[in-house]
Amino acid sequence: MSQLFDNYIAGEWRGSDHRIDNLNPSNTEDVIGRYAQATPDDVDAAVNAAAEASATWSVSGPLQRHAVLSAVSQGILARKEELGYLLAREEGKTKPEGIGEVARAAQVFDFFAGETLRLAGEKLPSVRPDIEIDITREPVGVVGAITPWNFPIAIPAWKTAPALAFGNCVVLKPANIAPGCAHALAEIIAAAGAPKGVFNLLMGSGGVAGKALLDHKGINAITFTGSVDTGRHIASECARTMKKVQLEMGGKNPLVVLDDADLDKAVECAVNGAYFSTGQRCTASSRLIVEQGIYDRFIDALAMRLGGLVVGDALKDGVHIGPLADESQLKKSRDYVEVGVKEGARLVCGGEAVEGDAPGYYMTPALFADATSEMRIVREEIFGPVASVMKASDFNHAVALANDTEFGLSAGICTTSLEKATRFKRAAKAGMVMVNLPTAGVDFHVPFGGTKGSSYGPREQGRYAAEFYTTMKTAYIGI
Ligand code: NAP
Repeated sequence: MSQLFDNYIAGEWRGSDHRIDNLNPSNTEDVIGRYAQATPDDVDAAVNAAAEASATWSVSGPLQRHAVLSAVSQGILARKEELGYLLAREEGKTKPEGIGEVARAAQVFDFFAGETLRLAGEKLPSVRPDIEIDITREPVGVVGAITPWNFPIAIPAWKTAPALAFGNCVVLKPANIAPGCAHALAEIIAAAGAPKGVFNLLMGSGGVAGKALLDHKGINAITFTGSVDTGRHIASECARTMKKVQLEMGGKNPLVVLDDADLDKAVECAVNGAYFSTGQRCTASSRLIVEQGIYDRFIDALAMRLGGLVVGDALKDGVHIGPLADESQLKKSRDYVEVGVKEGARLVCGGEAVEGDAPGYYMTPALFADATSEMRIVREEIFGPVASVMKASDFNHAVALANDTEFGLSAGICTTSLEKATRFKRAAKAGMVMVNLPTAGVDFHVPFGGTKGSSYGPREQGRYAAEFYTTMKTAYIGI
C-alpha cells in the first residue's frame, strides 16, 4: 500500500478524493507515494488562509522571519541525504546531483534569512521646502508560485524563501511529475514555526490547481518557472486579472569553443552543461558552436568522453546520467534525434533508448555535428541529453550564431583570450555569461534570469529578488 501525501492548507494537512502516483523514472514499478490533487475549493481555502495570515506576517519583524527562514534552512540540511535520495528517486537526477540540489535549497533559505535584516529603504530631499521623502519596500501580499519538475526543491526554495523573507504569504503549486520534494519542504516549513496560512502547498495539475490560482482574486503576484508556452499563457492570464508576474522559461544556450580554447576544459564544460542532469536544465548547453580550427578535435574528444558515461538508475553509485523524467520527456528527446537525422545533421553518437535493470526512461547522450541554425534541433528547446555542434568560421561568426535564437538565458565561451572572453561577455544576448565554465551551474546569491524569450519580469535570486517580492511606497512628510 503506497503512502499518502496531503496538501498543506491553513496550517493543516488535507487529503483529497483524487490522488496521483509519483513514479520513479529509473524504475516505473517503484511508486514513491500517492499525492493529493487540489481542487478549486482547496485553492480557494489556501489563498484565503494566506490572505488572512498576510495581515500579521506582512508586519512581522525581521527577527521572526529570520528565525523561521533559518530554521527552514537547518531543517533542510538535517534531511539532506534523505531528500537528495528522494529527489533522485522522483526526478531522475543522480544521487550526488540530488543531494547538491537539496543543499542549495538550504543555502537559499539561509541567504534570505539574512536578507530579512537588510531590507533598506531610501530617504531623499524633496524639491519643495520643509518636506522629507521616504521610499520603503512593502510586501506584495499573497504570492502564487508555480514550479517545474526539473529542480523540484531548488526552485520551490528560491521562490518561497524571498517571498517569505520580504513579508509575503505563499501558495506553492509544484509540478505533478515530482511533488515529493515540495511536500517535504512544506513539512519543514510547518516545523520551522511559520504561522498557519503563511505557507500553503497545493499539489495538483496545472489545468486545475494552476488555473484556479491564476483565476483567484486573492493572489497578488504569480512567480512561474516552466516552459515558454505555459509562461505565455500565464502572462496573459495575469494581465487579465491584474497580477504582478515573473516568468522564468526555456533556453537554447550556446557554448562557444574557440580555436585557442583548452580542449580538455572545453569538453568538460560541454559534457557538464549539455548532458548532466540528463540535459533537463533550462541552462543546458544544447548548442555547441565550435571554431573551425578545433572543430574535428573537439567532436572526437567529446564523443570519446560521452562513450565513457554510464547511463542508468539514478540511485545507483557510479551512474553519470539518470533517466528522463517521464515517458513524454523520453519520447520528445528520441523524436528530436529522428528530426535531426532527417534534417541532415550528422549523428555522431547516442540517441538510443536503453534498457536498465528495471523499466525506466533511459537514453544514451546524443551528439549531432554539422548542424545549422535553421534546423529544429538547433532552434527548439529539446530538454533532454541531446546537443548539436555548429561550425563557426571565426569569433564574430561564433557570436552571431550564439545570438541567433529566440532564447537568452545563459551563454558560454571557452577561450584562453581575455580579449575575446571580454568581447563575448559584452556581445552575448543572454542574462548570464560563463567564461571557461559550463552554461549551467549558478550561485544562489546573485541574480538569475535571461533576456528575450527566456525570462519576463524582474530577476530571481540574490538581493534583486526584492524587485519582484516587494512594492515601493513613497511617503512625503511635511515638517
Ligand atoms: P511546464 O509544463 O510549463 O510546467 C510548469 C508548471 O506550470 C507546472 O507546475 C505545471 O503543472 C504548471 N502549468 C501547466 N499548465 C498550466 C496552466 N494552464 N496554468 C497554470 N499552471 C500550469 O514546464 P515543465 O515541463 O514542468 O518544466 C520544463 C520547462 O521549465 C523547460 O522549458 C525549462 O527550460 C523550464 N525551466 C526554466 C527555468 C528557468 O529558471 N528559466 C528553470 C527550470 C526549468 P503540471 O505540470 O503539474 O500540470
